[in-house]
Amino acid sequence: MTADSASARRLERALASLRGLSVGDALGSQFFVPANYPLLKQRALPPGPWQWTDDTEMACSVLAVLSAHGRVDQDALARSFAEHHDFDRGYGPAVNRLLRLVREGGDWRELSSALFQGQGSWGNGSAMRIAPLGAWYADDPEQATHQAEISSYPTHQHREAVVGAMAVAAAASLAAAPGGPPSPEDLLDGVITLVPRSAVGAGLRRARDMLDYQDAGTVAAVLGNGRRTSAHDTVPFALWSAARSLGDYEQAFWATAQAGGDVDTTCAIVGGVVASGGAGAPPADWLARTEEPPAWLTPFLP
Ligand SMILES: [Mg+2]
Repeated sequence: MTADSASARRLERALASLRGLSVGDALGSQFFVPANYPLLKQRALPPGPWQWTDDTEMACSVLAVLSAHGRVDQDALARSFAEHHDFDRGYGPAVNRLLRLVREGGDWRELSSALFQGQGSWGNGSAMRIAPLGAWYADDPEQATHQAEISSYPTHQHREAVVGAMAVAAAASLAAAPGGPPSPEDLLDGVITLVPRSAVGAGLRRARDMLDYQDAGTVAAVLGNGRRTSAHDTVPFALWSAARSLGDYEQAFWATAQAGGDVDTTCAIVGGVVASGGAGAPPADWLARTEEPPAWLTPFLP
């Protein structure tokens, strides 16, 4: 395979993951509208169009930087996040302020490390955007994990957020492996070996122990469902849910959404991981109801 066709295939895989991520994000966010609550229990679709949120907007920057640079360039990524920051897409207040200051010329290194009294953010924002990077590195889960680590710093520097991003990228990489998706056990075992000790890592080991549980609500009650919007109360449950439904996007979405919490983000993570393997694409009519990617992404696409 030539270098060009290898990178074209990386981009195709990453784009497939981005589609899954954006459908999960956009449809998941519909269930914050009170009129749509009853539909969730019935597994019925709300009317379109479904607008995506910050999860998709940031994931588009990840894809754009990979397409332009072939790897994560932190300065380019921070610049893209800031330039393409739409305040009304549901960002958390700390990231809204950070991206505004970066856009006005601030240094992301100083601003990101200063968040939360110098601890950095442990929010789930660097995990929610990173599945397409894992798909890009489907042939190299270690590199996926490393690139995800450095991708977190422009906005999320707390160890838990960094490990959360590493775990999601590792999962997306393993889910898109050339030989087809792994078993649920192999997926979580693979992720666990790729991430350092942390609360996210401990949560993933608990998730591994709960793979035979049938009720996502019970598992979410133990692992968290993103209600606190931290990496460690989001990523273990999302990867539990993705692991159980590799190859079946609809089942993955509904089981995840019905557990409640930060539904756009848990469904963005699950959608991005499940769709990164070719077998788990979202249904065509779901994709058709989802808002198109932003026009600024077009020059980076095939
Ligand atoms: Mg969101």
